[in-house]
Parts: sequence; structure tokens; C-alpha cells
Amino acid sequence: MKVATYRVGGERRVGLIDAARQTVSPFDIPESEAQLGVLALIDRPSLPRVLSPMPLKEAVLEAPIPRPRRNIYCVGKNYHEHAKEFASSGFDSSAAAGAVPKHPIIFSKVPECVVAHQHPVLIDRNVSQAIDYEAELGVIIGKGGRGVRAQDALDHVWGYTIINDVTARDLQGLYSQWLIGKSQDTFCPMGPWAVTKDEINLSDTTIKCWINGELRQDANTTDLIFDVPTIIATISAGVTLVPGDIIATGTPAGVGIGFKPPKYLVPGDVARIEISGVGVLENEFREYRA
Ligand code: MG
Repeated sequence: MKVATYRVGGERRVGLIDAARQTVSPFDIPESEAQLGVLALIDRPSLPRVLSPMPLKEAVLEAPIPRPRRNIYCVGKNYHEHAKEFASSGFDSSAAAGAVPKHPIIFSKVPECVVAHQHPVLIDRNVSQAIDYEAELGVIIGKGGRGVRAQDALDHVWGYTIINDVTARDLQGLYSQWLIGKSQDTFCPMGPWAVTKDEINLSDTTIKCWINGELRQDANTTDLIFDVPTIIATISAGVTLVPGDIIATGTPAGVGIGFKPPKYLVPGDVARIEISGVGVLENEFREYRA
């Protein structure tokens, strides 16, 4: 099932997407609950009924979880080829540990930087001169837990979404902790909706990213250094996961920093990310104006 958070006539709703018919059917939940987006469904013991469908084009999509309850967990350097391109870029403050990490690199993005499909991502030239894209599969936790074993980890997953882990490379290199470079306002496009875990086969899911129509990233989740169960087991060993937690699993090779010279994003650029079984997340980059 594909579940979207969207706005119609100023009201936020959560609905079931019918991709073939291009419709969305709202779940019968109070508007106060719909404010949570997909979290409203994750929190409920059973699925609410759906009301009459409407054309998808009349809905304004929002991020599936417009305001996550806490920081989004992210995994750094989690594809072999990307680990190599990043370690040789000169911007990698973690490079001393070697190109391929022995243990997952976990960092986070603040919840306030989440934006929707087709929402502009803002480039502030006074803050960064090196804005980059990172196409990633996002995991949405459904059942919380501490000390989750890898073999049980997928029982804790509700579903998946697409995340663009937009990054200010210069800030990432300047500070050994990546939070500032990863959490600039609007730097976490998420969407276009969430899909339940039964729609995704982790042993064959493709991740592609185009910039202005040019294919830059093209990989499969089988290329992950640390797979989804390992990531969940790693984080939950001592940190209790809660329903609605989101984990961005890392980006494949082909980011802007990997080119010589680097291909950083400029106002007017459009990043289009497609993950098989999920959909397409597209965002234009625009100049920030105070
Ligand atoms: Mg990333």
C-alpha cells in the first residue's frame, strides 16, 4: 500500500494512493490526527476505512511524515563505490578511518529540514558554495525496540520512502560532526509518499538519481555495505527506537563531489530520484532570499 500525506483546500489528510488510477482516497481519521501524516496510521492498532477517491492531481503532496518526532537517523558511506569517491574527495572528515568503514557511520538530520516532493530546496550562497544531492532509501520504523536482533529487524519496519540527503559539502568537511552540513533548512526532501514494507524487495531495489535529466546515480540495495537489518541492530543496541523513526540508509556512487571537478548544485537544478517500488521524488533547487 502506498500512503500519502497531502493537502486539499488547506486541510491536511492522509490517504491511500492508487497509482494506476492516479487517485488518492483519504483515510477516515480526524483532522487533528492527520496532522501527524503517516505517523497517524503507524500509531493506530488497525487500519481506518478509506473514503471516496479523488484525482491525485488535485492534491498537494506533503512529506509522508511532515515533521518527524525526532532527528532522522542517517548512514554515511554505506555503498562501496561511494565510500571510495567520498574518501578521495578531500572533504571527508572521517577519511582517516579508511574508505570503507568497519562499522556503520551514523549521523542525523534535524526534523525541521524535511520538505515535500516538488518543494524547493534552498541554496544560501552566504553559507555554502558546495551543495550536493544524495539519493537514499528511507526506512520507517513501525515497532519500536531496544536491542533488536538483525534477524528480527524487519519485523520492526513499517515501510519505506525516498530521501534526498542534501548536503553542504564544505560545511561537512569543516566540522567533524556532520549535523550542520546535513541539516540546513529544506535539506531533507522526502516522498512522494510512503510504501508499506510488503511493496519492497530489499534484495532487488534500484535507486536512481538524475540531475537535470542526466543520470548520475544508478545502484541496487544489494550494494549496501551494511544492510537494513544490520543498521537497525546497530542503532537499537542501546538506543530505543520508537515508532515513526526514520533511517536514511546511505547513498550510492555518483554524487556531485565524486566528479572532477565536482558538480555542485546551483539554483534552477532539478534532482529527480526514483526508487523501484516506491516512486519518484523531484525537487528544484532555488536561491535562498532572506
Ligand atoms: Mg547520505
